[in-house]
Amino acid sequence: MSDFDVAIVGSGLVGSCAALALSAEGLSVCLVGAEEPAARVGDTWDTRIYALSPGSRDLLAALGVWRRLDPARVQCVSRMEVFGDRRDVRLGFDAVESGVPCLAYIVESGELWRAIWSAVLERSGGVQLRVPERPAGLRIHADTVEITLEAGGGIDAALVIGADGARSWVRQQCGIEVRQRRYPQDAVVANFLASRDHGGAARQWFADKGVLALLPLPGRHVSMVWSAPAAFADELRALDPAELGARVGAASGGVHGELAQVGDSAQFPLRWMDARHYVRPRLALIGDAAHNVHPLAGQGVNLGFRDVREIAAVLRGRGAEVDCGSLALLRRFERARREDVSSMIAVTDGLQRLFSSRVPGLEGLRNLGLSLTDRLPILRRALARHALA
Ligand SMILES: Cc1cc2nc3c(=O)[nH]c(=O)nc-3n(C[C@H](O)[C@H](O)[C@H](O)COP(=O)(O)OP(=O)(O)OC[C@H]3O[C@@H](n4cnc5c(N)ncnc54)[C@H](O)[C@@H]3O)c2cc1C
Repeated sequence: MSDFDVAIVGSGLVGSCAALALSAEGLSVCLVGAEEPAARVGDTWDTRIYALSPGSRDLLAALGVWRRLDPARVQCVSRMEVFGDRRDVRLGFDAVESGVPCLAYIVESGELWRAIWSAVLERSGGVQLRVPERPAGLRIHADTVEITLEAGGGIDAALVIGADGARSWVRQQCGIEVRQRRYPQDAVVANFLASRDHGGAARQWFADKGVLALLPLPGRHVSMVWSAPAAFADELRALDPAELGARVGAASGGVHGELAQVGDSAQFPLRWMDARHYVRPRLALIGDAAHNVHPLAGQGVNLGFRDVREIAAVLRGRGAEVDCGSLALLRRFERARREDVSSMIAVTDGLQRLFSSRVPGLEGLRNLGLSLTDRLPILRRALARHALA
């Protein structure tokens, strides 16, 4: 007998939610995480924000997380607008047409983590916390997984879940290879106070200087993610706040009026990555430990939350096959998740390539694609359905 049904390594957004979801299924869970959540500092806006899909919202509501979020820090996205190289070419979705109250919900990273963590602490009976703590060794035996901890001691579990982010220690310990491509782009993120109301619209511009997204935050704040060619990203980071506001204002056609930067900017390298295996006997990878996608679709953490939903469903439905670490069981999880992840990588990678290409004629073609999609309600609705999952 193992000490726990499941040991989760990594207490980020995805690992912590997995701990909540699996303990809600009646499983005994140990969560090993390197860091405690960083508290929100004062009234400033976190530079790291997430666009959560309605499906992620439903999961967080079912886990008792959503009600812990401060409603004054959550923004409903009622409309999405995508612009091509030419300003007159636009693709738009709205919530009413898609039959949902909001197409997405914008939440700051610190606020989301605070809410998840307070739910984890309340579930203290079902989740044993080893945070802050790091594993030092991992051995997978026929009937159990043994994890030794850096601080000494160890734990046994029937199943180990690696939720320890893009550089996953668990994945490396198990020698699981990845397919990946580093983009010649970095994401620059910053928040602004706009002089014009955003009206709940999330807007994105695909242009030769990369993909610029301005996502609405409560009040007249907007959050920028500019996935820019690396040298241009360095240039953006070097600008003072007034120059950055002016540059973003110009690239977005002045739609938000004057933009005054709030807080600091930050820069992240971009890549796509997909682990060759999400499962091994007694092991599963979830979240960024299993896959990373380009942030242009804002889907990274949503994919991770869909992993959580699926692993919980598979373990719930295991029936007579009670061993949580059974490979046959875990393969069901892998099969269910592979297609969603592969299609998200294909879509985000394809769009990134299409809009960064310098091939003559492609500019016209991609603008035509956007305007045709805008005029074809069936295609528009299919795209919206994917984004809402
Ligand atoms: C610029 C940018 C913008 C983005 N915007 C969006 C967006 O709008 N919407 C969206 O859905 N996604 C977005 N993403 C993607 C999103 O940030 C990630 O997909 C998400 O954070 C992954 O969560 P995770 O819990 O899997 O991994 P992480 O957040 O990386 O968490 C991993 C956790 O594991 C811990 N850990 C690591 N190693 C160990 C170890 N050895 N032992 C114990 N613990 C360990 C870490 O401390 C951390 O707490 C964006 C990404 C970027 C770069």
